[in-house]
Amino acid sequence: MNLDLTEEQSLLQKTVRDFAESEVRPLAKELDETGRFPHATFKKAAELGLTGIALPESEGGANFDHIAYTIVIEEISRCCASTGVILSVQNSLYCDPIHRYGTPEQKKKFLEPFARGEKIGCYALTEPQAGSNAAALQTKAVLHGDKYVLNGTKAWITNGGAADAAIVYVNTHPEKGEKGITALLVEKGTAGFKTGKEEKKLGISATACCELIFTDCEVPVSNRIGNEGEGYKVALSTLDGGRIGIASQAVGIAQGAFEAAQKYAQERLAFGHPISQFQAIQFMLADMVTDLDAARLLVRKAAWKQDTGARFSMDAAIAKLFSSEMATRVTHKAIQIHGGNGYSREYPVERNYRDARITEIYEGTSEIQRLVISSWLLRS
Ligand SMILES: Cc1cc2nc3c(=O)[nH]c(=O)nc-3n(C[C@H](O)[C@H](O)[C@H](O)COP(=O)(O)OP(=O)(O)OC[C@H]3O[C@@H](n4cnc5c(N)ncnc54)[C@H](O)[C@@H]3O)c2cc1C
Repeated sequence: MNLDLTEEQSLLQKTVRDFAESEVRPLAKELDETGRFPHATFKKAAELGLTGIALPESEGGANFDHIAYTIVIEEISRCCASTGVILSVQNSLYCDPIHRYGTPEQKKKFLEPFARGEKIGCYALTEPQAGSNAAALQTKAVLHGDKYVLNGTKAWITNGGAADAAIVYVNTHPEKGEKGITALLVEKGTAGFKTGKEEKKLGISATACCELIFTDCEVPVSNRIGNEGEGYKVALSTLDGGRIGIASQAVGIAQGAFEAAQKYAQERLAFGHPISQFQAIQFMLADMVTDLDAARLLVRKAAWKQDTGARFSMDAAIAKLFSSEMATRVTHKAIQIHGGNGYSREYPVERNYRDARITEIYEGTSEIQRLVISSWLLRS
């Protein structure tokens, strides 16, 4: 593994950093306060190829690798964590499984316009009673002729309120448990499909995260991704890539908070000195950058492994576990370095601290990452 970025990756990093500083950072506070979904920013990101980063051009993508994907999500999240996860869901949770499992017809309709960022996608696995144990999902789909009829409710769906299509995980044969789970593409506007309550959250408030409700909703068989009963495999393999995205989001949030704390420490005076002259503050900054460096390396290692075509489930879980808990540690210290001002909404580290927390929960909690890692360790 070569740790240097390629010329192409370096150029992308610079382009995305400039874009994030000029178009994303100025909106972050307002998005946090209003919860408004950033449609215009999404369109501008699409013009840079950020809605289909690692997809081939023939499928509407920008043809970068997954290391480039981690760079994009980090750079965007460094300025706005909501915008970071909106793009992560679009790339990893929506486009990627259609790229890997979709038919040519599905790719034309449900992938290309989404990879180009003309449309927004979401991934609907979780239900009110089934999160970590997603195999217990209860949304049912019964086959009638050439249509499935769906009934059930999905919860906590990022991009849900803004999405043009959802990948919905249903059970077509409940008696088979997880082997009955099937993935279906459902378009916005389909009769019997509506969005439910939008969640009021601790952080990442601009993600249109809501319930999706299906009542006798008819979906053509041609919208099925893979075969009946393959949905759980589609869902879990998709989360492997998604976890690298969330780990990148965590690194970006923490990087933003670190930079703010580093600057503040050199400006703030106490006892007649910049607080950066106190060893207690210096050591916090040293620990923060050490934590960040370790997390970024784990993220890039997992993405590199994905790019080689090898199984990377354990690497993705390690990267997500470490990076998400790192982001909580680093943003906690960033507030400490800001003292009382760190507790104020006037300073971005307060938002960084709230935004960081979700990375330990979604796409598998830290406990679930530890289960994934230990199950790989103890395989016989
Ligand atoms: C803001 C936000 C956005 C989200 N976006 C999406 C989305 O786009 N699509 C989607 O499908 N889902 C989404 N989710 C759902 C998310 O993935 C789940 O919330 C998460 O997987 C945890 O499930 P749960 O909330 O049901 O918690 P539970 O499963 O009820 O877990 C509660 C606690 O028990 C622990 N626990 C559970 N089982 C075990 C076990 N076997 N061993 C040890 N500890 C365990 C958990 O780690 C946790 O600490 C989102 C959630 C949030 C909050």
